[in-house]
Amino acid sequence: MARARESDKPAVLVTGGAGYIGSHACKALAAAGHVPVTFDNITTGWRDAVKFGPLEEGDLLDRARLDEVFDRHRPVAVMHFAALSLVGEAVREPGRYWRTNLAGSLNLVEAAVSAGCMNFVFSSTCATYGDQDGVVLDESSPQLPMNAYGRSKRAIEEMLDDFRAAHGLNTVVFRYFNVAGADPDGEIGEFHRPETHLIPLMLDAIDGGRPALTIFGTDYPTPDGTCIRDYVHVSDLADAHVKGVSWLLDGRGGRVFNLGTGSGFSVREVVAASGVVTNRAVPVEYGGRRPGDAARLVSGSTRASAELGWKPGRSTLGRMISDAWRWHRNGRYEA
Ligand code: UDP
Repeated sequence: MARARESDKPAVLVTGGAGYIGSHACKALAAAGHVPVTFDNITTGWRDAVKFGPLEEGDLLDRARLDEVFDRHRPVAVMHFAALSLVGEAVREPGRYWRTNLAGSLNLVEAAVSAGCMNFVFSSTCATYGDQDGVVLDESSPQLPMNAYGRSKRAIEEMLDDFRAAHGLNTVVFRYFNVAGADPDGEIGEFHRPETHLIPLMLDAIDGGRPALTIFGTDYPTPDGTCIRDYVHVSDLADAHVKGVSWLLDGRGGRVFNLGTGSGFSVREVVAASGVVTNRAVPVEYGGRRPGDAARLVSGSTRASAELGWKPGRSTLGRMISDAWRWHRNGRYEA
């Protein structure tokens, strides 16, 4: 059979496709036979991360630019990753979070509906659940976000419900937990400037790039006093998003899925595992709690597994740290 021309492949618009998770989703989309069209303002993303389809530079707050991109590529679906996503920053600068996340998403949704692109995958977060210590969260757990990041994401979920009711927008919402690891082929990975996330900061400390990792809080109501998180491999997350697009193209929609593994690891456990994987000492120091942090965020993936057929097969702590370590040592983008 003749190979399909590039233009015969269905396009999927990926906002934030130059970022950590978005770039992995683009790779997975391309592997599944789609053309991932990245829409990104390259403020926290990287041109070098856009390797699997075209880049359309633009800002979600620029509606005319969005309309132009929908018109040019006529995507069959949207994957919406672009957002500000740092808890500490959200606590300090709520206005930026509400403007970028909520107003940007509103522009995008309106542009999609007006272009007739009615399949929408939204990247939400476990931060919409807030601190519900001791509970394994499922999709019906109450949403009690603790900061402007989580609250802006919850508001976007509610906005999508209204667009579904009024305009028939088909939506898949993924609430995901802590993303870790890097592309197993080493093509793309996590690279934030400044970096705030646990695993890349720790690998940097192990490698001598910073004096130590500061553990934020040792007095949480958890067995070892440090926060517990449910870590998911970024490539598993990307696979879930491709399954989400297929689900929508099959005519389904209006579904929320948690993407977690059901296993939580404390900060101290992640530190210990990193020492084992890298075979190096991990320099740590102890600091106070980071405002906005929940003690424990752990999800099951029962629904995603039963309905989407999603299996987070790469999401062992050792695999996530070793993929991140390889990327840390050999990859990274030009700053
Ligand atoms: N953390 C830490 N030191 C750091 C960065 C993070 O102790 O320098 C902790 C943080 O308090 C949280 C966990 O590591 O409990 C994961 O934080 P991260 O910023 O990676 O992701 P988040 O949970 O905010 O999405």
